[in-house]
Amino acid sequence: MCRSMARKAVCCGLGSLELLLMVLFLLMTGISVGLITVLAVNLNSQTQEPEETVPSAKPPENPFLIGVGRADCTGPVGDIPLMGYANSDQTAGGIHTRLFSRAFIVDDGSKRVVFVSAEIGMVSQRLRLEVLKELELKYGDLYRQDNVILSGTHTHSGLAGYFQYTLFMITSKGYIKSSIQPIVNGIVKSIDVAHNNMRPGRIFLNKGEIVGSNLNRSPHSYMNNPKEERERYKSNTDEQIVTLKFTDLDGDGMGIFSWFAVHPVSMNYTNRMVSSDNLGYASYLFEQEKNIGSLPGEGPFVAAFATSNSGDVSPNTRGPYCVNTGDKCDYLNSSCPIGGTKMCVAFGPGDDMFESTRIIGENIYRKAKELYGSAEKELHGSVHAAHQWVNMTDVTVQLNSTHSVKTCKPALGHSFAAGTIDGGGDLNFTQGAVEGDPFWDGIRDTLFGTPSTEIQDCQNPKPILFSTGEMNWPFPWHPAIVDVQIITIGSVAIVAVPGEATTMSGRRIREAVKQELEMHNTFTNTEVVVTGLCNVYTHYITTFEEYQVQRYEGASTIYGPHTLSAYIQHFRGLAKAIVEGKVGELPKGPEPPFFSNVFSLLAEPPVDKVPENTTFGQVLEQVDSLYKVGEVVSVTFVAGNPRNSGDMRGKTFITVEKFHNSTDTWEVIHTDASWETRFHWIKGSGGQSNATVEWHIPLSAESGTYRIRHFGHYKQRVIITPVITAYEGASDVFQVTKTLYSH
Ligand code: ZN
Repeated sequence: MCRSMARKAVCCGLGSLELLLMVLFLLMTGISVGLITVLAVNLNSQTQEPEETVPSAKPPENPFLIGVGRADCTGPVGDIPLMGYANSDQTAGGIHTRLFSRAFIVDDGSKRVVFVSAEIGMVSQRLRLEVLKELELKYGDLYRQDNVILSGTHTHSGLAGYFQYTLFMITSKGYIKSSIQPIVNGIVKSIDVAHNNMRPGRIFLNKGEIVGSNLNRSPHSYMNNPKEERERYKSNTDEQIVTLKFTDLDGDGMGIFSWFAVHPVSMNYTNRMVSSDNLGYASYLFEQEKNIGSLPGEGPFVAAFATSNSGDVSPNTRGPYCVNTGDKCDYLNSSCPIGGTKMCVAFGPGDDMFESTRIIGENIYRKAKELYGSAEKELHGSVHAAHQWVNMTDVTVQLNSTHSVKTCKPALGHSFAAGTIDGGGDLNFTQGAVEGDPFWDGIRDTLFGTPSTEIQDCQNPKPILFSTGEMNWPFPWHPAIVDVQIITIGSVAIVAVPGEATTMSGRRIREAVKQELEMHNTFTNTEVVVTGLCNVYTHYITTFEEYQVQRYEGASTIYGPHTLSAYIQHFRGLAKAIVEGKVGELPKGPEPPFFSNVFSLLAEPPVDKVPENTTFGQVLEQVDSLYKVGEVVSVTFVAGNPRNSGDMRGKTFITVEKFHNSTDTWEVIHTDASWETRFHWIKGSGGQSNATVEWHIPLSAESGTYRIRHFGHYKQRVIITPVITAYEGASDVFQVTKTLYSH
């Protein structure tokens, strides 16, 4: 019975049955902590187009020092689960677009702040601690926990395996050193690049609106917010996009930083290729436009698109419906009459996930480009950074002079297992559950024990499915110590939220921080932006009112109904310290743990094998001889496991090359980082695998002679020693024409 229900997909959560099965498995096979410990596997430069000069007054006398940088942070694109839908069967199989980390450093002459946006699901505490260690080794105390914000774009098509808390390790197949290392190195390298190109520059703020590119996926929860509050806003999602434009003193563009609230889940849980999703595509388009002639990921201009208060915000703008019957989903539960939650899915605006990613990405890019072109409001003044570690399981929130409330030890509710309209669960869980279920509660009690009365009362009305705050084997299941952090650049304040704030939660945070900053006359017309998925992952943050409804986001607000109030209290404290110049007096708070015995559950890749009478890199399915623009070229090679290629950051598994008669040379026009290419790694049995490379020929492609090449490595075992050997293959030469009839 359980087998048929074993597959499950939950946005940004964890497959609950997988958790149960995994723990059951561990218990039944008698694996002790000690044994698990034994199992532990150890744990540019391009000519730039002339830029429009900024149309404002001459540069300030004390300009900021600005550095921008970008680096590849793509890990091994085979076998490792993708991080987001929490389905450990959704393992990586190739690349649609590469993943990059983008860093911005701003210095006011005496203080320095760093903002990093990495194309990963979220920043984990473990990842942050490892990055900070590396930065300390390289830079001493220049880049620290208080002045560096690390944010994930929340793509659900990045790689997992970089967590130290048990819940996240389960669907990640543990802590995977080969997965976390490229992310750490990519982030640090992006900071290195930014650090090394710092120069005097200017920063301009601009804002606009993008209509029709996001949708509230829990409107029922949103409607539970007070009417007076809702009436102040015209939409149940934030449509605003905020951009910062960075130029040097000549007005030449250095980069753009942008915030827009949308979940990067245009690529759904059927996808197996690593992808930066919709926000990543906006970055891609902006950088390709500015870095003329550069391959993706190259060139000096850096465009980062970070997520914001997108907790309840879907990009699947056609909205949810029952995919099996065409019915409307139930409004409260997002379930279908036949097939339940799993059948209620949101799609759009495109006809498939690639087209949806493209449309949402283009919409964001187009608006950002317009805002970049018209940005006039220049930022002046100082930069500030304030940071604290907080024990979120034990915060007393003073609601008013007589009434105080408390946060709770973490727990996930039943609706967590229902997933969302962006990826629902397979089981009979539905969103909006405020009652437990005897069957699942029975299983829970058998496996983990009954949640204590204390935690049940504290988390009320959440029916607890996983009392993670009371689960500590083999490591704590959820973090207790989290980062709260704000940096300011002139009149812009960037609030680093360690989770996914819903639309209204984000608005309340922004409002509170703005109010606090403006109590002091050094801050006026302050623009506060919320960045989500920063520093440590703690799931969702709903308002108290939304929490009462217990849809997915409420069930995943792990520190209880007053989670948001606790964050607001802390962010206010940081803002107050900034305006009063008392950042140095803020207590550091309790340091987060760094678990040394974290383990991997992912086996080493097996020895690679070829089908009889073939060799690695040999073509199994050949290209046609002639294609028209708009068509898709496809070629299949005998391949090795991409994990055997080791660290491929800054390299490529594939190229599309154009032949130049005049010089008798092949020019690389696309790599695996290109939007137009798809590198599918398809794992066969017995160590055999194939690589299918597709080139979706753009209408802009030039007529001519082309070929596709594939590069990889295969593993053999000589006696007992693994030996890695490079291989490559090439397709036949083919022609591309603008029309099929021209020659
Ligand atoms: Zn999410």
